[in-house]
Amino acid sequence: MEKFDICIIGAGPGGYKAALILAKNGKKVCLVEKKEYHIGGTCLNEGCIPAKNFLESSNYIKKFSYFQNQGVQGDIKGFDFNCLKENTKTLIDTLRGGIEKKLQSNNVKIVYGKAEFLSEDEIRVESRGETIKADKFIIATGSISRKHPVLEFDSKMILSSDDIFSLEDIPDSLLIVGAGAIGCEFADFFNALGSKVHLCEFTPSILPLEDSDVSSIVQKEFKKRGIDIDTSANVISYKKTKDKVEVVFETKRGKVVKSYDKVLVSIGRIPNTSSMSIDNAKVQIDEKGFIETDFSLKTTNSNIYAIGDVTTSAALAHVAYYEAKKAAYDILGFKALNDSVVPNVVFTSPQVGSVGKNERYLKSNDMEYDVKKLFLRTLGMPKIKGDDSGFVKLLFDKKRKLLGASMVGYDMTEIINQVMICINTKLSLDDIKSMIFAHPTMSESFYKAIEG
Ligand SMILES: Cc1cc2nc3c(=O)[nH]c(=O)nc-3n(C[C@H](O)[C@H](O)[C@H](O)COP(=O)(O)OP(=O)(O)OC[C@H]3O[C@@H](n4cnc5c(N)ncnc54)[C@H](O)[C@@H]3O)c2cc1C
Repeated sequence: MEKFDICIIGAGPGGYKAALILAKNGKKVCLVEKKEYHIGGTCLNEGCIPAKNFLESSNYIKKFSYFQNQGVQGDIKGFDFNCLKENTKTLIDTLRGGIEKKLQSNNVKIVYGKAEFLSEDEIRVESRGETIKADKFIIATGSISRKHPVLEFDSKMILSSDDIFSLEDIPDSLLIVGAGAIGCEFADFFNALGSKVHLCEFTPSILPLEDSDVSSIVQKEFKKRGIDIDTSANVISYKKTKDKVEVVFETKRGKVVKSYDKVLVSIGRIPNTSSMSIDNAKVQIDEKGFIETDFSLKTTNSNIYAIGDVTTSAALAHVAYYEAKKAAYDILGFKALNDSVVPNVVFTSPQVGSVGKNERYLKSNDMEYDVKKLFLRTLGMPKIKGDDSGFVKLLFDKKRKLLGASMVGYDMTEIINQVMICINTKLSLDDIKSMIFAHPTMSESFYKAIEG
């Protein structure tokens, strides 16, 4: 049995990033990953990267009609979905190869197989029968799609987001249950490729975690493009026929029965903490299965850390990266990282970017704030880009320091990072106002919103 300084379980963004930092700083590191060809985790293999690669091509189709009106000649003859899938696979393989190379050149030992705790300092890797001892562990086992109480995944007609990337054809009709970031991004994609999409959300608005004005704009744009939306709606039963799924909903319009080729269930993610005998490691999980951690991401066992989607922090790849750094720095005895605000991004058209506190939070916590709002239709660059929908909304305190921002519009997933830097560096609106932003750019929208 080999002994390591640190053993990391799960090779997603959290796990492989922590492995690299620790190995670069002289630690003997083992990285255990359940599935072969899955370094990079959900993000690289079934999440951020393939989803955004899909959306980039479908966005091109949406943009094409605008640029035809600008004089671009030609036609889109169709869409080769298999080609997109193949290219996405090549992209994933290339990126995964790069990560594997870095891990190998830093002498991280990679072991494939499902890890299970035998004790506080030992795991067994299933299928290999191998046991591994380490002084410290980092649990980075991520999350999986939450099951719907009524609709049962079958990977053929009732799909999770993982199944989307191996679909054979674009479905003629698609029901998407759950209108969070993942549901809305897929609604955007399939609508652009010609599916008749019905988006069904249990809460009163789509993108329920975002500012309500943001949700309204995305909903309006989706409806304009022919996406059917039911909010405050619930699936109560379903029946599968040979090639359709017939679904019964309770909606604001009353009981509705409709049939679809496919159903995508995207109602959130649950932490991957079951079936790894976590009790043997004396690591406590909460009632939903998330691992409880302290400020430095130590679990209830101070030799075991947890990072990424298995913790209660936002289930985002950049949070997993950040937590990897935080835990690794703690193990290495480096200065702790300052806490950062977390940008949230949704790659629909229009895109959404938000950071810090939103108006809903400030109102419900009786906090005083002021608002500056700029509509993108008042600027040149959004029009040039062919989409001037949306706005920039900035929230700030009495000292004119930014509390948060909610942005919706073209490229807002990029612009939001500028606001993140301003909040973290505690710049006031007047500090930012005294700077020069390049013209004409989308970033100007942030500056012009401050200028008012
Ligand atoms: C469709 C989709 C789109 C997304 N888009 C975005 C986006 O645009 N931006 C963003 O920030 N986030 C996005 N996310 C979320 C992002 O993918 C996750 O937040 C991120 O992957 C979490 O990283 P992680 O390291 O915590 O876990 P994961 O990436 O889930 O990796 C965990 C790894 O652990 C392995 N594992 C599990 N159990 C064991 C075990 N017992 N033994 C060994 N290995 C194990 C798994 O096989 C997996 O490889 C998206 C997710 C989905 C599903």
